[in-house]
Amino acid sequence: VVEINCHGGIISLKEILSLALKAGARLAEPGEFTRRAFINGRLDLAQAEAVIDLIESKSSAGARHASSQLQGALSQEMGILKDGLMEILSLIEASIDFPEDDLESFSPPQLITEIDCLISRIEKLVDTYTEGRLFKVGVSAVIAGKRNVGKSSLFNALLGEERTIVTSLPGTTRDFVEEIITVSGIPLKITDTAGLRDSSDSIEEEGVRRTTNKMDQAELIVLVIDGSVEGNGLDIPPVLSNGKKIVVVCNKADLPQRVSLDKLKRLFPESPVVSTSALYKKGLGELKSALASLLISNPHAQPPSVMVSNLRHKQSLEKTVGFLKQARKGIESQTPPEFIATDIQSALHHLGEITGQTTTEELLDRIFSRFCIGK
Ligand code: GDP
Repeated sequence: VVEINCHGGIISLKEILSLALKAGARLAEPGEFTRRAFINGRLDLAQAEAVIDLIESKSSAGARHASSQLQGALSQEMGILKDGLMEILSLIEASIDFPEDDLESFSPPQLITEIDCLISRIEKLVDTYTEGRLFKVGVSAVIAGKRNVGKSSLFNALLGEERTIVTSLPGTTRDFVEEIITVSGIPLKITDTAGLRDSSDSIEEEGVRRTTNKMDQAELIVLVIDGSVEGNGLDIPPVLSNGKKIVVVCNKADLPQRVSLDKLKRLFPESPVVSTSALYKKGLGELKSALASLLISNPHAQPPSVMVSNLRHKQSLEKTVGFLKQARKGIESQTPPEFIATDIQSALHHLGEITGQTTTEELLDRIFSRFCIGK
């Protein structure tokens, strides 16, 4: 290893780099260091993938999850599952090798119980995916409503609450202001939109069209209504009626109220309705709880210690379950043990994909191409 120290500045760095290249060095490929750590057995594939998840994490809960995966929490669980599968496989293979010995250990009902146990353990893990994904990539929300109802004030009040963990998003357009806040550990990318209004002005019309588009793409809509003005904002835009998750906010609660919360609840029977005063920063906690209640079933529960947040892992687990179910069926219908053994081997193969025990060069290229150079 040669370590070169030089003066700062781009020119001297470039010069040194080109001299090093001329002398026979080559540039590292994206993710090459992590890939080498994987190839040399210092990390398994699930741990290597956690490196990029940790770098890209958008909330402390997401970072904690990636860090526990990096330390091997998921790999350990895979190890336990693999041991279970190996045990089953050895029993089946013994019955193939010594068919005439009446092997006591090969009891079909017991094998089925063991397979069921593994299936339910893997399915529980698969069930963590929706939440695991939420903590990892977050959710997009749009603050919508008519002009002057207090959308921007609410947006700023929500951000002000978390001044320390606000992240400015690159690429924010001039039309929309986007920021990330966290709600029960979930990164929530919120967008403040131009007011929804009918307009004959073509520029404004374009703004409204873009707002409607944004709302269409968002997973969650915070619909703000001015509670001090009768009937303000109660004409529901069509995009809201197509099964979106909505939180209705009746803002300006500090002023005499002209909009009844009961009426709002009747209008939006599926949605939580919250009363706020963005100006006096009241009701923000309730608003966050309402947002959290739409995202996760029990916002106060501790997230499970091992979670799956990677689609590749989820798919491999599902394939493992598929082969286990096939093996179970085979045992029930007294299929020759050779076939059952093949199913268990396939289940092991797919389980091994997660930690990289069974993998292809192409898959590794795909995974490590997400890394940047130097990682
Ligand atoms: P937007 O057009 O929906 O983004 O609305 P703004 O956030 O710009 O607010 C419009 C006006 O309403 C501003 O003068 C705000 O100060 C005022 N406003 C916003 N929220 C409240 C509130 O909770 N109470 C009162 N009294 N005024 C508010």
